[in-house]
Amino acid sequence: MPAWFDHLLFLILVVLFPVRAAYSGMRRLRRAAPAELPRVRLAVYREAMAIQWLLLAAMVAIWLATGRAFEAVGVAWRPSIGFGVMALIAAVAIGVTLHQRRRALADDQTLMDVRGKMQHLEVMLPHAPRELNTFYRLSVTAGICEEALYRGYVIWYLSAWMPQVAAAAAASVIFGFGHAYQGPRGVITTGVFGAVLAAVYLISGSLWIPIVLHALIDLHSGHLAFHAFRRGAELDRQRFEREAEGRDAVAPPAVESAPDPAPAAAGAPADAAHAAAAFVPEGGPAAAGPDYDVAIVGLGAMGGAAAYQLAARGVRVVGFDRWRPPHEHGSSHGETRLIREAYFEDPFYVPIVQRAYELWSALEAEAGAPLLRLTGGLMIGGADSALVQGAERSASVHALPYERLDAADVHARYRAFTPADHTVAIWEPRTGMLFPEACVRAHLNGAARRGAKLRFGEGVLAWHADGDGVEIETASGRVRAAKLILAAGAWMPALLGPAGLPLRISRQTLHWFEPASAPERFDPERCPAWIYEHAPGIYSYGFPRLNGMVKAAMHVPGETIAPDDPAREPTAEEAAALIGALGQYAPDAAGRRVKSAACMYANTPDMHFAIDRHPAHAQVIVMSACSGHGFKFASALGEAAADLAMERAPRFDLTPFRIGRFAAGEAGAPVR
Ligand SMILES: Cc1cc2nc3c(=O)[nH]c(=O)nc-3n(C[C@H](O)[C@H](O)[C@H](O)COP(=O)(O)OP(=O)(O)OC[C@H]3O[C@@H](n4cnc5c(N)ncnc54)[C@H](O)[C@@H]3O)c2cc1C
Repeated sequence: MPAWFDHLLFLILVVLFPVRAAYSGMRRLRRAAPAELPRVRLAVYREAMAIQWLLLAAMVAIWLATGRAFEAVGVAWRPSIGFGVMALIAAVAIGVTLHQRRRALADDQTLMDVRGKMQHLEVMLPHAPRELNTFYRLSVTAGICEEALYRGYVIWYLSAWMPQVAAAAAASVIFGFGHAYQGPRGVITTGVFGAVLAAVYLISGSLWIPIVLHALIDLHSGHLAFHAFRRGAELDRQRFEREAEGRDAVAPPAVESAPDPAPAAAGAPADAAHAAAAFVPEGGPAAAGPDYDVAIVGLGAMGGAAAYQLAARGVRVVGFDRWRPPHEHGSSHGETRLIREAYFEDPFYVPIVQRAYELWSALEAEAGAPLLRLTGGLMIGGADSALVQGAERSASVHALPYERLDAADVHARYRAFTPADHTVAIWEPRTGMLFPEACVRAHLNGAARRGAKLRFGEGVLAWHADGDGVEIETASGRVRAAKLILAAGAWMPALLGPAGLPLRISRQTLHWFEPASAPERFDPERCPAWIYEHAPGIYSYGFPRLNGMVKAAMHVPGETIAPDDPAREPTAEEAAALIGALGQYAPDAAGRRVKSAACMYANTPDMHFAIDRHPAHAQVIVMSACSGHGFKFASALGEAAADLAMERAPRFDLTPFRIGRFAAGEAGAPVR
C-alpha cells in the first residue's frame, strides 16, 4: 500500500509538475523577447531535465529505502514478451522514424506542413543547433523519467485503489494534463500517446519499449521542428526577395488599386480591416499623376519605420535623407534605447508600446540580428514622484506585472544600487534595451528589399503641396508623390516653416563608464535598466554593462541648440553632473569614463508626440515623436503613419498627438 511519501510524490506529479511547466517554463518563453529566446529555451530545457531526474531519484530512493520490487514499476528483468521481441519492436520503430525523417527533410511541402502543425509550440521547440543538442538530451530524459514516473509509478500508485487497466487509463489522463502548457490539443494528443504507451507497458510487462518509443517520438519531433522552422524562414526570405525583384521588374501598379496586404512575416498588421482597405490617393491615376505613392523626408527611427511598413504593403515609396542612417547627427544613435511597458508618462502609451514590442520582435526575426534585450527595469524615486506614481498607475490600469520595492529591497536584489531610504522603486519585467542603430538598419534594409527607393545623402530643400499631391525638391531635381511624410527629427522646424510645430531642439549627452568596482554587479543578468527621478523633470537613467561599459545619461530640459550646431562635443562638466547624480544611488557605476556622445531631443511643449496631418495640407503627415522618449515606439508609429498615408484608420487613437493642441489655450495640455 502507498505510504505518505508516495502521496506526496503523486501530488507533485499530478499538480506541481504540470503547473511549473505551464507557469515557469512556457510563460517565461512566451514573455521573452526574441533575442532572449535562445537563452531562455536552453534554461527551460535544462531545468526540465533537472526536475525530472530529481523526481526519478526520489522514486528510486523510496524504492530502495522500502525494499520494494522494481518489477512493480515496470523495471522488469524478465518481460513477458521476451528481449528478442522487444528488440525487434524497437528496431522497427527506429526504422520507421528514420524513414519518415528522410522523407520529410527531402520535401519542402511536408516540412511546411510540419511547421504549420507545430506553430503553436514554436516558442519552445529548438531553433539553433545548440538548442537541438540540449533538446535531444531532454528527449532521452523524458523517455526515461516520464515513463518511469507517469507509467510505472502512477499506475502502481493508482492500482492500490482500482484495477490496473483503470489505473493505466487514469495515468494517461494525468499525463495528458501534465502537458496542459501545450493547450487543449496537446492535452488530448499526449493523453492518447500516454494511453498507447501504457497499453504497451501492460502487454509487455516492462517499461523498456515505452521508454524507447517515447524518447524516439520526442527526438523525432524536435529534429523535424528544427528543420521545419529553419527551412520555413529560408523560404520566407526567398519569397520576399522574389517579390522585391518582381516589383522592380514590372511596371509600377496603378496607385488607386488596393495594395497587397503585408506578408505575414513582415510584421505588418494582417487583420481584416487593414487588409481590406484601399489606398486612394488624392492625385488620381498614376499615368497622369505622381512618381510615387508616398515620399518620406528623413529616414531615421520614424521615417525608416514608415518606409518599411509602406513598402511591406506594396506601396511605391521614395525616402530621402541628408545622411545615410544610422548616423550620429540626429536623435537615434548611442547603442541603446530604453523600452518600457509600465509607462510613467501616461497609461495612454501602453497599448502603443505593446504593439511596438510585437513589431520589434517580428523585425528582429526577419533581420536575424538582435534588436532588443529585456533586462527588467527599475523606476526609482520618492513615493510621490511622477516616475513611481506614473509607472504604478500605468501598470495597474493595464494589469501589467510589476513589484513595488523599498530601498532595502532594491539593494538586496540588485547590489549595484544603494538608493536612499526614502525612495521606492517600481520593478517591471518587460523593460529592456533596444539597439537603435541595428533597429534603424533593419527597417531600412527591409524597406529596400521590398522595393522602397531610399535616396541617401540627398537632403530635401523644399516641398510644395498642391491639389495633385506634393512636389519634393532636392539638389538633384524634383519628385512628385501623392502623399508626404515629414519625419526629419530635429530638423522638423526648418521643414515645417514658421507656422509649424513649437519644437524646441535641446542638447543631451550620453556617457559610457567602466564600473569603479564590482563590475559584474552591472551585468545584464544581475542589473536591470533603470531611471531615477531626482526632482520633477530631472532624471538620470542607465543600462546594464555591455562590452564592459555602463551607459548612463541625464534626461533634463537641456540647452536649446540649432540642429546643425557643430559645437556638440560633450564637456567634462556634463559628465561630472551625471557622475554626481549616479553617486546618489549607484556609486560604482561611473568609474573611468570611456567615451561620450551628444544627441538631440526635439521637444514639444508638453513632451508628448505630434503625429497628425499637416493643418493646411491633408496629404502631408507630420511625424515628430521624440521629446526624449520616442524611439521605443518607432515600429508602431511607423505603422500608424503608414495607415494615415493610406487613408486607413490607425490602430490607435492618435488625437492625443494632434498638432491642434498647441493652438492658443491648449498647448501644454496633458495627453489625457
Ligand atoms: C540622448 C537621447 C536619449 C534617448 N533615449 C531614449 C530612450 O531611452 N528611449 C526612447 O524610446 N527614446 C529615446 N530617445 C528619443 C529617440 O531616440 C527619438 O525619439 C528618436 O530617435 C527620434 O527619431 P526621428 O526619426 O524623429 O529622428 P532621427 O532618427 O534623428 O531622424 C531624422 C532624420 O531626418 C533626416 N533629415 C533631416 N532633415 C532632412 C532633410 N531636409 N532632408 C532629408 N533628410 C533630412 C536626418 O538626417 C535624420 O536621419 C532618446 C533621444 C536622445 C537624443
